[in-house]
Amino acid sequence: MLNLIIFGPPGSGKGTQSARIVEKYKLTHLSTGDLFREEMEKNTPLGQEVRKYIDQGLLVPDEIALRELYSRASEHMDSPGFIFDGFPRTIVQAEALDQMLNEREIPICLVISVEVDREELFKRIIGRGEDSGRSDDSEDIIRRRLQVYEEQTLPLISYYKNQGKFVAINGMAHVDKVFAKICHAIDTYLETKKVVPEVE
Ligand code: ADP
Repeated sequence: MLNLIIFGPPGSGKGTQSARIVEKYKLTHLSTGDLFREEMEKNTPLGQEVRKYIDQGLLVPDEIALRELYSRASEHMDSPGFIFDGFPRTIVQAEALDQMLNEREIPICLVISVEVDREELFKRIIGRGEDSGRSDDSEDIIRRRLQVYEEQTLPLISYYKNQGKFVAINGMAHVDKVFAKICHAIDTYLETKKVVPEVE
């Protein structure tokens, strides 16, 4: 079982990289952001609830994120592995995920962090906002999302470094190059069970 977390701030390109990883390694993609956007598009009660937070650039409460993630994950327990994208985003979520996976003896193998400068992130999301149609891609909301990321999600770096699972990838390069580095980290893990802490 290959269980990965793809980690990185909004605009780091982790969605694009996840899609490629899923295709190459045949993993089940679990993205809480995609899941919430689907619910908002369908205007379900859950969609209406999460919109209150997402449109302000805030995190959805942990209990909702956890409940929805569990429910999606449990539909795919026969999968050869998962890639968690946009989850966990808080220490509470990370601890709950570890508990769920450890109970099933399918722990996280690697946390792949796609690292991009703050300035570049801002430029990328503003650029994307012009055609993404995402209600949370306006300038002030992006600032809030980056701030929330720094305050609530960055602590996960030490959490996973302490577990020896953290891999930092330079995300400023071309998408193909970033993908090649990610594959290098995954393939090394699959062949040797060793975690490469940094791929330049
Ligand atoms: P991005 O990485 O561009 O911020 P996502 O698609 O991962 O985009 O998430 C969009 C929004 O959905 C977040 O800003 C947040 O409000 C909400 N969200 C997604 N995943 C979670 C989560 N695990 N916990 C809390 N809120 C979440």
